[in-house]
Amino acid sequence: MYQCDGCGAAIPRKTLRYQVSVDVRAAYDTLEISLWDLVRDHRRELEELVARMDKTDTMKLEEQVYKKMVFDLCPECQRRFILSPLNFNKTGTVDEPPTDIDTFLRSLGFGNADGK
Ligand SMILES: [Zn+2]
Repeated sequence: MYQCDGCGAAIPRKTLRYQVSVDVRAAYDTLEISLWDLVRDHRRELEELVARMDKTDTMKLEEQVYKKMVFDLCPECQRRFILSPLNFNKTGTVDEPPTDIDTFLRSLGFGNADGK
């Protein structure tokens, strides 16, 4: 049994569920390095940086750079997620009965319509 991370509904085994992987990573434009950057003394800046990092929670520090999350979604939440990934849980409901895997595969054109 899985649980939908969107609505909290139980997702029985062998029924269709979706997995959403979210990678949140720091993005920055390529730094330009000037001649001044190469010749100046970085020691003090580095010492200050290390001192600051010592005081910061390691987890928090890592999350500022990279964070991966994986969620299970029921088919209904998957539909909402596709429509509005950053706000999917606030956009009303999609009325649709639960989909089992056979129905899902048939909808993609696999197998026979009668399930055999
Ligand atoms: Zn859900």
